Amino acid sequence: MNFFSIETLAVGDELLTGKIADTNSAYVGQVLFENGFRLSRQNVIPDEKKSIQSSIQEISKRAKAAICFGGLGPTSDDITAACVSELLGVPLEVNEAAKTRLIEYLSARKRQVTEQTLKQVAIPRTVEVIPNYAGLAPGFSFSYQGCHFFFLPGVPDEMKPMFSASVLPKLVSLAPPQGQVESFLWRCIGIVESELQRLMVSIEKKLPEGMWLGYRTRFPENYLYLYCMEENENLRTQKIDEWKSQIEPLVAPYCYGNAEKDLEEWVFDLLKKRKMKIALAESCTGGLVVQRLTRVPGASDWVWGGFVSYQIDAKEKMLGVKLKQPSDAVSPECTLALAKNALSKSGCDVALAVTGYMGPTGGTESGPVGTVFIAVTDREGKTIQDKIELPPRPRATLQWGASSFSLNTLRKLLK
Ligand code: ATP
Ligand code: MG
Repeated sequence: MNFFSIETLAVGDELLTGKIADTNSAYVGQVLFENGFRLSRQNVIPDEKKSIQSSIQEISKRAKAAICFGGLGPTSDDITAACVSELLGVPLEVNEAAKTRLIEYLSARKRQVTEQTLKQVAIPRTVEVIPNYAGLAPGFSFSYQGCHFFFLPGVPDEMKPMFSASVLPKLVSLAPPQGQVESFLWRCIGIVESELQRLMVSIEKKLPEGMWLGYRTRFPENYLYLYCMEENENLRTQKIDEWKSQIEPLVAPYCYGNAEKDLEEWVFDLLKKRKMKIALAESCTGGLVVQRLTRVPGASDWVWGGFVSYQIDAKEKMLGVKLKQPSDAVSPECTLALAKNALSKSGCDVALAVTGYMGPTGGTESGPVGTVFIAVTDREGKTIQDKIELPPRPRATLQWGASSFSLNTLRKLLK
């Protein structure tokens, strides 16, 4: 890892009032990390002259480089360029190349060039221009008290290509990374983070310098990353492979995929591969499982549809599942009957049913809130039933969790 210290500075009132999140810093942090750098700090400040100028001064004392976003546009709250000008003691000057682009852009749309639109092509006189091919306001860079500052527009679609084309190469030339970081991922379900961590204790103790593990949670899933930082590409791949084979057997019972692809996409790929059309009977998830499956492009080929048989009466009228008593609605028997009847009514190749208690009230002594029953059955008579006990969480989170485990049970049958 390169310890050349880099910070981000996001300017914008809307970032502080929670209207939007600073995803620009997250993006830059990720790209830097993949390239052997690590951000040392992220800063978020309002559109205020005092904050902008004092932040530049403070950052220059701590960091060797700073990536700054926002406030380069034409509106009255876009004051970043003017603040930098004042701090550097140089006037704002119209950048001719950016002005030409602006005029071409506006005249093609039969819009007038006004003083306000020209504001965004004025940058401090002594800075270096960073061209913006996706928008109108150029970025700029300069060195202040030994720190390299890069100012980019706030709009992510403009910022990202400018960062890749102009900022990253400059950082690499200033401080060549000591090696690229390569990673390997296991996406897991059915294991909590602390347990995953426990499984990795012996591995973490043995990992050599330059290799480490990372954990990320997205309820109810947990992701494990193996990282390796090493200059030599062949050696890097060799090290990853060696440790991968040690980790693999430990996480195999929980791992559903090794790429940044959602669970529903993995499951859908299996449906497609096995040429199986699916029908769903959902109670506690209210249609979330079918919604997630239909998010995947090409869903219309393999997702037949679903019954949202929520009330007891609906279970009977839609799917012919008659219950002896109301508490049977959340049970393995009812869930299996829903799956079987969804299969026969739809004429599909496979069917999934899910029932459960999502709270905040309800549940029973033997089946408290968070209890979920899942049944998957196919035309060959193969059936898998699962009982899941989700931890206490808000209702919507439990529904999401129940839908994830439903997809996982389906995955087990298709695999
Ligand atoms: P514009 O020319 O659009 O005014 P700008 O450089 O002045 O661009 P801002 O006005 O600060 O940038 O932000 C424009 C939009 O970009 C915001 O409304 C927001 O949607 C998005 N944005 C700004 N800063 C960030 C950030 N740090 N992370 C993610 N999105 C951001
Ligand atoms: Mg703006």
